[in-house]
Amino acid sequence: MKEKLATRVRQLKPSATLAINAKAKALKAQGIDIINLSAGEPDFDTPEHIKEAAIKAIREGFTRYTPVAGIPELREAIATQIQKDYGLSYTPEEVVVSCGAKQALFNLAQALFEEGDEVLVLAPYWVSYPPIVELAGARPVIVPSEKENLFEPELSALERAITPKTKGLILNSPSNPTGQLYSQNFLKGVAELAKQHGFFIISDDIYDKLRFDGRGPENILTVAPELREQTIMVNGVSKTYAMTGWRIGWAVGPKDIIAAVSRIQGQSTSNATSIAQKAALEALCGPQDCIVEMREAFKRRATLLYQKLKEIPGLDLPKPQGTFYAFVDFSAYYGRQAPGGTTLEDSLTMCDYLLEEAKVATVPGIAFGDDRCLRISFANADEEIEKGVSRIGEALKKLA
Ligand code: PMP
Ligand code: GLU
Repeated sequence: MKEKLATRVRQLKPSATLAINAKAKALKAQGIDIINLSAGEPDFDTPEHIKEAAIKAIREGFTRYTPVAGIPELREAIATQIQKDYGLSYTPEEVVVSCGAKQALFNLAQALFEEGDEVLVLAPYWVSYPPIVELAGARPVIVPSEKENLFEPELSALERAITPKTKGLILNSPSNPTGQLYSQNFLKGVAELAKQHGFFIISDDIYDKLRFDGRGPENILTVAPELREQTIMVNGVSKTYAMTGWRIGWAVGPKDIIAAVSRIQGQSTSNATSIAQKAALEALCGPQDCIVEMREAFKRRATLLYQKLKEIPGLDLPKPQGTFYAFVDFSAYYGRQAPGGTTLEDSLTMCDYLLEEAKVATVPGIAFGDDRCLRISFANADEEIEKGVSRIGEALKKLA
């Protein structure tokens, strides 16, 4: 028999974030008292008025194929939203609606990158960026950063990573997994490099409404609007409106790139779900107070988690400035022994230990390109966060 699986997929790892969240949910369903601090989704329910819009769509029979790139009114609403949030003008033809921001990113990578290309990925990075780049045949080039610099890479290191093969760079601010924002200075520096070397920028703005400093969304185009022809913005309703399961995201950028993404979509998944598109339309055009409520809750929990973690000797982290993630350095405990005799030597063994001993689920930093840290999600109730952190503290005390 011939080799069963294509080379492309033999190397492909499952998404660590999805896998761990699923494991934590399964253990909980078995009755084990797990505190799940691994979740990459809001713990809130989708707001009622959004659900009602979907129910209405079903009742009215809005259940057929839609145009591949999305229903015109949703593409229009997204363009309006970009104008409101970023002060940038786009036409509906410069918007494509996909099955989640993840699919928008995947299709974009297919449209832009190929064999021989290099794509700059800033570590710590969201788990799926390197595989998405690799599945397009290109090579992710990882640029590291330090917690002391709030996980912002040195511009000089970024510049050194650029070669004639550099075709793109992926930005995500506020960032999953660090919860940090890139500074305006950094974004300006990146913009200069993009201009000089002509590479494309994918701006993953999925957490743009979840920043805690009271400022509106900012990205590379707000500091350098002249990069319009080489920047594509990605966003969606998952995080902003607690709609992860509805699978609606989008890409906004130059018309020819968006048309290419739509062609790929037309030959793979076709349109995003018709009903979910109607729900997303209501999310964008209906009342917006749900965002404020959720953001205030995340902001309060960020402080709670930060303060509790800082009470544990040896743990170190910058305070989250957005999202619902903290990225915590546990490496002071590496080399120590668990009661069973296992030496905890990296983020994977530390995560396993915390799940076994403390019954707390977290995500190993290695999945995000930094083995010193674990990602701790605060998309959970205050009491769960407090209980989870104190259990982590107790488990760490048991290490020899
Ligand atoms: N980008 C980042 C940084 C994320 O954390 C997520 C969440 N999974 C996504 C993109 C994709 O979001 P979705 O596909 O649910 O729109
Ligand atoms: N973005 C979330 C996370 O990082 C959801 C899981 C995923 O899509 O990877 O946990």
